Amino acid sequence: MGNKIALITGASRGIGSSIALRLAADGYDIWANYKSNHEAANQLKEKITVLGRECVLLPFDVASSEETDRVLQPMLEKAIPEVLVNNAGIIRDALMVWMTEDDWQDVIDTSLKGYFNVTKRVLFGMMQERRGTIINISSTAGQSGIPGQSNYSAAKAGIIGASKSLAMEVAGRGIRVNVVAPGFIETDMTSNLPIKEILNKIPMKRIGRPEEVAGVVSFLCSSDASYITGQVIAVNGGIYV
Ligand code: NDP
Repeated sequence: MGNKIALITGASRGIGSSIALRLAADGYDIWANYKSNHEAANQLKEKITVLGRECVLLPFDVASSEETDRVLQPMLEKAIPEVLVNNAGIIRDALMVWMTEDDWQDVIDTSLKGYFNVTKRVLFGMMQERRGTIINISSTAGQSGIPGQSNYSAAKAGIIGASKSLAMEVAGRGIRVNVVAPGFIETDMTSNLPIKEILNKIPMKRIGRPEEVAGVVSFLCSSDASYITGQVIAVNGGIYV
């Protein structure tokens, strides 16, 4: 590879897959992390190859420091990505009174510890090279809270706080850190939700498309965003303003 590289976690499906395709179209080679859906990941790889870019598939659980080390470390010895998008996330919804410790821990471990595990390993190289863009995918749940999502809201609010701190730590090294906070977006994650009820709450009266999140990520990676760091950009049809 000699081209600029974007590492995207949770890239096999949904928002992550759209981000990978958009950044490939923008000229990046892609390191695509995912957990276990090899079929979806291979489909993504084919599409990226058609766009004329390289795609390396990196299956590992972002919640596990050991797995992250085993898969990512050898890659980082060869090259340091210019862009890191921390997108991997899961939901385990339940009202707090019914929430199990596993529901709590699994969500925090994937979104928040996953952010730590991947960012920590990529950051040192970015700092040495004095360049980089980190984009963390939060959620409306992390901004406003959503009933039934205490675990997810905690993880996604945590991502916002962690990103603001990191933005200030590394701005002097030429690294920008921003957050994108999507509202309801049409993916597997939202496929079982009562869409009719939700539409009533969205001022734009429609659910968002993954490409609409990917477009904002693309902008944040571009030189047009060169003075933007530590910000949270919502892509939510007005559901939280
Ligand atoms: P999907 O459920 O469609 O896709 C999730 C992706 O994350 C898959 O690629 C999955 O891999 C990967 N993943 C899940 N757990 C892990 C893990 N432990 N390690 C590595 N990869 C993992 O989700 P969305 O595309 O809807 O969501 C993407 C992000 O956007 C998430 O952080 C989510 O919280 C956030 N978001 C989504 C919204 C929505 O309405 N859809 C709204 C606001 C935020 P695999 O295919 O192998 O399972």
